Amino acid sequence: MSGCIFCKIIRGEIPSHRIYEDDLVLSFLDANPINPGHSLVMPKKHYTTIFETPQEELHACISVCRKVGEAVYRAVGASGLNVLQNNFRSACQFVDHIHFHIIPRRDGDSFLAPWLRGSATAAEMEEILKKLKAEL
Ligand code: AMP
Ligand code: ZN
Repeated sequence: MSGCIFCKIIRGEIPSHRIYEDDLVLSFLDANPINPGHSLVMPKKHYTTIFETPQEELHACISVCRKVGEAVYRAVGASGLNVLQNNFRSACQFVDHIHFHIIPRRDGDSFLAPWLRGSATAAEMEEILKKLKAEL
């Protein structure tokens, strides 16, 4: 994808702070870190969302998420870690090349305060379950 900013980074056309790479996956520091050590992990081939990404590359990415996630967690002395993957604008995906965020956390930091828990009746649970299973 010629216009994709992450493809440009992967091809070395624009600079990045590379943490790790192998044949399938690249990881580098996020340019606008939520907390120090905030990193990104992505397949080297361009796929837009989790829906198009082949299993082999997804598996490779999640394995690198664990490797880089543990390194980040230890390096910054974090007390928590989020692995976050956004799909489509409604879920705050702004770069259309699938990527995983590795976000080290500390108690009381400003990111992702515990969200309000919702609720659903047994009938609503059954209804959504039926719809969901029909799509599997
Ligand atoms: P998302 O909202 O999930 O699409 O996240 C995209 C992320 O890419 C944001 O956290 C940006 O800070 C990050 N980002 C965008 N451009 C660059 C870049 N050139 N180098 C490093 N990170 C970038
Ligand atoms: Zn791309």
